[in-house]
Amino acid sequence: MFDTNTITRFKDLETPFYYYDLGLLRGTLEACKNASDKYGFHVHYAMKANFNPKVIAAIQSYGFGADCVSGNEVSTAIANGFDKSKVVFAGVGKSDKEINTALDADIFCFNVESIQELFIINELAQAKNKKANVAIRINPNVDAHTHHFITTGLDENKFGINSWQLHDVIDALRKCANLKFVGIHFHIGSQITDLEVYKNLCNRINEMQDWFEDHGFPVKVLNTGGGLGVDYHNPDTNPIADFEGYFKVFKDFLKVKPGQEVHFELGRALVAQSSALVSRVLYVKMGQKKNFLVLDAGMTELIRPMLYQAYQKIENLSRQSAVRSQRSEAKLKYDVVGPICESTDCFQKDVELPESFRGDIFAIRTAGAYGEVMSSGYNLRDKVQSVYSE
Ligand SMILES: *Cc1c(COP(=O)(O)O)cnc(C)c1O
Repeated sequence: MFDTNTITRFKDLETPFYYYDLGLLRGTLEACKNASDKYGFHVHYAMKANFNPKVIAAIQSYGFGADCVSGNEVSTAIANGFDKSKVVFAGVGKSDKEINTALDADIFCFNVESIQELFIINELAQAKNKKANVAIRINPNVDAHTHHFITTGLDENKFGINSWQLHDVIDALRKCANLKFVGIHFHIGSQITDLEVYKNLCNRINEMQDWFEDHGFPVKVLNTGGGLGVDYHNPDTNPIADFEGYFKVFKDFLKVKPGQEVHFELGRALVAQSSALVSRVLYVKMGQKKNFLVLDAGMTELIRPMLYQAYQKIENLSRQSAVRSQRSEAKLKYDVVGPICESTDCFQKDVELPESFRGDIFAIRTAGAYGEVMSSGYNLRDKVQSVYSE
């Protein structure tokens, strides 16, 4: 990701910024597209992972659909060229205003997360004399084996409708003349690296689709959600997620009936590796118990490490070539922290790094998903900038 020319280019730039490797982004999108096309699977990009205009333009150009979780995401997707027939809208708390936005946009489908929401969408659709396509988001109680902060498919999570409520769903669907049932939807969590988890999900989906059919509601769309993980520890050796392996699990274990469509909603796996947060060391504080490197980026630019206890690889780009030539050079341990007035504003503790100095350029890798989109203006910080490889 960082050749010598790129690092030299960074020397003249103001930090912090998100650096986007658009070549790697395209390579990733192509790998996903090829792997999903093989089985005729449909992929919707989960826009919340990154809505940088250049990123979404690249994604749209490959023909992916959009998975939105707010009314503004629905409008942004359509304004950026995503086909409205490939826009889906999920979320546990869709406001009336957002539902109306999506109804006006004639999106493909609402992924509905409660019985009350079914009635509200029906009412709002009726007022517009429209019929809304709905898929039922089912909480399958499948453990995603990921961090509990980013697990969404267990009984204790707020998302989706639990299986013991499905009889009420059927009753509601029968009453709602302005809804059209198109399918079932699942999303069990994020940063899932154990493909066995998806096998368990397939088994649940197979049971659920039979159940709906038995109750007179044939399922046209099986939407399996997203969550495929990336390698945060080895971004250079594994820059592209295992799309082949991922889709093959669904090919092998999902019972797809004639005429059915299989949909996916990938966010992180499409965008995470193609960006890094680039920052400079402002101050080095050498202590008795701890050494601190204070960067000019903090939780206001990248909050994942603080919010989810997430690991992201930290590199000193200025000292990298020196390290390669002098392998024996001793490394030091530093807590790499940001400038924000919060004790939690720490990217990582005890990071082994070559001796680092004020002005050194650092990269925090794998920052393309849930990075720039979660940046904030806390402490009245400047809006974080973006720099592109081309
Ligand atoms: C966030 C989200 C996704 C994407 O998750 P990733 O882990 O980024 O792939 C997909 N579907 C829904 C409903 C989501 O909320």
